[in-house]
Formats: sequence, structure tokens, C-alpha cells
Amino acid sequence: MDPASEPSPSARSAFRTRVFPNVGPELVRALRDATPRRIVLQVPAGLVRNAHDLAASLRTETGVPVVLATRPCFGACDFPSPEEAPRADVAVVLGHAPIPNVPLVRTTFFVEMRSEAGDPSALAQTVATSPIPRRLGLVLSVQHLDLGPPLSAELRSRGFDVQIGRGDRRLAYPGQALGCNYTSAEAVAGTVDGFLFVGTGEFHPLGLAYAVERPVWAIDPLQNVLAGPFDRAKLVARRQLLVASVRDARRWGVLVSTFAGQHRMPTALRLQERARAHGREAEILVFDRLDPRDLEGRDLDAYVNTACPRIALDDGANYPKPVLTPPEFLMALGELPLEPYRFDTYH
Ligand code: SF4
Repeated sequence: MDPASEPSPSARSAFRTRVFPNVGPELVRALRDATPRRIVLQVPAGLVRNAHDLAASLRTETGVPVVLATRPCFGACDFPSPEEAPRADVAVVLGHAPIPNVPLVRTTFFVEMRSEAGDPSALAQTVATSPIPRRLGLVLSVQHLDLGPPLSAELRSRGFDVQIGRGDRRLAYPGQALGCNYTSAEAVAGTVDGFLFVGTGEFHPLGLAYAVERPVWAIDPLQNVLAGPFDRAKLVARRQLLVASVRDARRWGVLVSTFAGQHRMPTALRLQERARAHGREAEILVFDRLDPRDLEGRDLDAYVNTACPRIALDDGANYPKPVLTPPEFLMALGELPLEPYRFDTYH
């Protein structure tokens, strides 16, 4: 069984979606044209500071009531449910690209917050003067996707062979990074000797390092600062040690999120079946957003998480018992080898 091959839910949806590079007159016009009764605005944690001004401005410009979703939003996989914003018939989601194969629950406008920052020539010069392989794959955060073509051209003029791959149906754009899916990188991994992530923070370079067996560097386009290579061997060894530590665990919890874009119940059921086939107990636990406190006091030895794979990889230490990804769980059962390590790509 391959948990990574589970078909995602149909993206066929009765609801419209539109994408905007930034907040501006085009978004306001589209909102007016949609004639909503109520708008729900969702912003990621990093943009919360501006959320109230933006809600006020949309309210004034459209004449429509605007409510703010206060739950932290980590991706376009967890937009507000109908229960969270019952009368809102249009959602404005800030800071994320749509995930094409996640069905929408209402008309949704994605405002990707594209950045114009970053000088492609200066960035390419920084890369060219560093010991980075000349056969290079480029992966970019949504905010910096517009840097892809000019930065590639600058790198090529300095002797680089640059590849930007097209990922699977969970990615809206070639070269796009999503924390649970680096298939745009995997598509070109065979023809490059390393990857350059363009964006800020370590979230994506770390995810990329788990996903591809190539060295990963990251360049912050705002500061023109290069970091890396990220130590994949160390990351993977830590996970393999964790897997080894729960090989004999008898009682497992199988974690399932109800968020539209994180819901993998068929995978959970198959994992439960595999656990039972190996003489283990496996209980399915359902939640929307997972809180480590929800797992306290349970008579379980370990968990396998079918929701966002980054819960196990980045936040696992916050939980009272070990949390594995689905491929790691199959390693613990002895159904998959420890090598090669497999990232839990969410297709
Ligand atoms: S599943 Fe996780 S990594 Fe993927 S989009 Fe959602 S929050 Fe981001």
C-alpha cells in the first residue's frame, strides 16, 4: 500500500475561485460583482496585524458586512468551514495560492500577496559566487514566484543550467513550494545536482530537504542572504531514530483532520488495517485543528498523523507521544525500508 498514492478529493466544485496578486481595485470590483451577503476574510498569522484595517477597508469599499476568521490559518487547505462563518458566501483568503484539487465550500478569492522585492541580478551574483552546483533546480514561495523567470535568466547568463519543474495537481504553479508537496522539485530532481529555494524562513527549505535527495540552499530575496546547504542526513537520521523507537508500540492513534485540504480518511483506514494485520491496535482520532493537549492522558503508545505532514516533522516534539507520518508508520511496521527515507507528500 502506498499512502502517498491516495487520490485527492475531486476538485470539481460548484463554487467559483479567482486569484489576485494583491489587495487592490481589481479585488474590490470582483467582490462587488459577486454581490455577496457577507464576506469572510482569512489571513495567515504573519499578516494578522493588518487584518482589521483590511476588513474595514473592504467593508467600506464593497458595502458588504465582513467577518474575520480568527483561527490561525496555515495554508489554503484549511479555509473557514461553513460552520465557522455560516452566512458568509464569499471568502477572501490572503497569502495563499489555491490548492487546485481541494474542493471549495463557497466562492473564494485568493490574494497571493505577490512581492516585487528582490533584484534578480544581485541575487544571481550572490548565488554565482557561492559553491552551489551549476545544474540547479529552482523552487519558490508563492509570494516570490514572479522572480522565477528573471532570476533563471540571470543565473543562465552566469553559466547555470536552471530547471523549474511542474508539480502535481496540488500545486497551482510550476516551481511552487507547498509545505506538504514539493513535486515541482521532484519532477526535475533527476536532472539537477542541487536546489535553490527562493523565499524567506526555513519552513520550505527544510521540507524540500526531506523531500529530495539533493542538497538544498535558500536565498532570502529581501535581504539577498544565502543559507545552506541544509543537512538532510541529520534531519532524516532523527526521523529514523524516532521510527526505530516505536517499532514495538502496540497501541496506535491514527490522526485525521476534518479540514477540506487535510482530510485523508481513506489513508487512515488503510493504515489502521495495516496495523491490525501486524497485530497492533489502532484507533482513529478525528479533529479539525490538532492541539497537543488533546492527546494528553490517552492510553496510546504512539500516533500516525494523516493530516498536515509538517505536524509530525516540525512540531512533533510538542506532543506527549511520538507522532509519525504515514510512510514512517509503514517503516515502523517493517513494510517500508528505512532507506530511502520517504517524505509524506500530500498529493
Ligand atoms: S497540509 Fe500543511 S503544508 Fe500542506 S498546505 Fe496545509 S498547512 Fe500547508
